Amino acid sequence: MMAKKYSFIFDKKLDTWICSEHEDVGDNTAWVRCWNGCNDGYFDDYEEDPIECEPGEYSVCSECHGNGGWTVCGACNIDNADAEY
Ligand SMILES: [Zn+2]
Ligand SMILES: [Zn+2]
Repeated sequence: MMAKKYSFIFDKKLDTWICSEHEDVGDNTAWVRCWNGCNDGYFDDYEEDPIECEPGEYSVCSECHGNGGWTVCGACNIDNADAEY
């Protein structure tokens, strides 16, 4: 069996998510929260380091880039305990 490169991307033209395994998955998507410990994609720098930082300073999470998690294919992640439906 040939290993196919997995991809899960949003097709703007078709306005739907396309899974390389399941093709057009429509609304069958799940949400996986970022495992990096960020707060919806951001870290509060002031809370982490009140001496060096000003209130309201924050940095974008390097893992989810401010998204707080990822949209994933619902069918691929049916057994994924971290996926929220
Ligand atoms: Zn994150
Ligand atoms: Zn899939």
